[in-house]
Amino acid sequence: MYVTDLECPKCKIKFNHKELNQLCSLCHGPLLVRYDLKSVKDNFKKESLSSRSYNLWRYKELLPIEDEKNIVSLGEVITPIIKLEKLSRKLGIENLYLKDEGFNPGGSFKSRGVALGISKAKELGVKAFAMPTNGNAGAAWATYAAKADIKAFIVMPKDAPIITRNECQISGAKLFLVDGLISDAGKIVAKAVKKYGFMDASTLKEPYRIEGKKTMGFEIAEQFGWNVPDVILYPTGGGVGLIGIYKALLELKEIGFIEGKLPRLVAVQATNCAPIVKAFNENKKESEFWEDAQTIAFGITVPKAIGDFLVLEAIYETNGSAIAVDDEDILKYQELIAKEEGLFICPEGAATLAATHELYKNGWIKENEKVLLLNTGSGLKYPDTVISNPPILKIDEEI
Ligand SMILES: *Cc1c(COP(=O)(O)O)cnc(C)c1O
Ligand SMILES: [Zn+2]
Repeated sequence: MYVTDLECPKCKIKFNHKELNQLCSLCHGPLLVRYDLKSVKDNFKKESLSSRSYNLWRYKELLPIEDEKNIVSLGEVITPIIKLEKLSRKLGIENLYLKDEGFNPGGSFKSRGVALGISKAKELGVKAFAMPTNGNAGAAWATYAAKADIKAFIVMPKDAPIITRNECQISGAKLFLVDGLISDAGKIVAKAVKKYGFMDASTLKEPYRIEGKKTMGFEIAEQFGWNVPDVILYPTGGGVGLIGIYKALLELKEIGFIEGKLPRLVAVQATNCAPIVKAFNENKKESEFWEDAQTIAFGITVPKAIGDFLVLEAIYETNGSAIAVDDEDILKYQELIAKEEGLFICPEGAATLAATHELYKNGWIKENEKVLLLNTGSGLKYPDTVISNPPILKIDEEI
């Protein structure tokens, strides 16, 4: 393993990665895992990948697990990147691609973060954790925790997708609902963590979830033959995926796997919960709490993200952007991609398509640029985004 320590990106203080660490003890900001990238560069070659298993563990030199026997896996796969041929023609963008994270265990990209989060928790001897969630993260942590024999205490808004509740329930997690938002669930979790000494698995309050989400960045680079796209659009809630992709690309650059300009990273949010977009438009380094947040794209209903400054840094450093789309457009583009490409994607993923069209129309995305959308989960997890009322026939009736 090539991890050197954990680092607070604000204070630059280092913490020992052999112990369980949560936030920076000084500024209470998130910690990032740092590697000896020089040694990784000397010992990790692109050619070594050809003989490795086809899942996220193939990038082991840039992952934080010391002993492979601690790996907890539910059968992660490299998710496909699909060229959207018909939509390309229809919208006028020549090179439009979608990475479909719906293929992950549990149907969302959350399993990437959890594969690393739970494996590392096991390695550090964690027995129980608590976390707030908008649904998918809780479901993913619950299922991996079951396999690892770690106890899970999960609090989610009562309006979170019911399937995610059921995933927690069947895998034996202790599940609680709250009549409020993920931020309210977070307050309850904070008290439980203090009272019982649980590990706090809240977004970015443990350093390893981001290391799992980072693997999206590795896969994107490798799947495109190490020629990264010009633009990557990501539906942003807590922003861990975007921070992770950025971290992955920086690490790949440092070890010489990719060269040149990084993709422009775009955070896509919903009009009624757009704290990052607001901060970006005001050229700020941090976001403010968004009151009365509400969108059908439940996974991105995050009124204030603890890693907001890292999301904004990734956007500014790559000359990216942040854009909000409304629920009506989300549903419209979710239907469009299903009709044209046969893909039933989640509303969060559909938001990136709506945003792409907007950014193309206003000239920010150019016709011949290589554009990649992240579909963060399967539409199958959100059956209620579609209403179907087909006619009911009598048995002897004809169609
Ligand atoms: C959690 C989630 C998001 C937001 O992810 P972050 O990396 O926390 O911004 C987007 N889409 C889906 C489907 C999610 O479950
Ligand atoms: Zn700090």
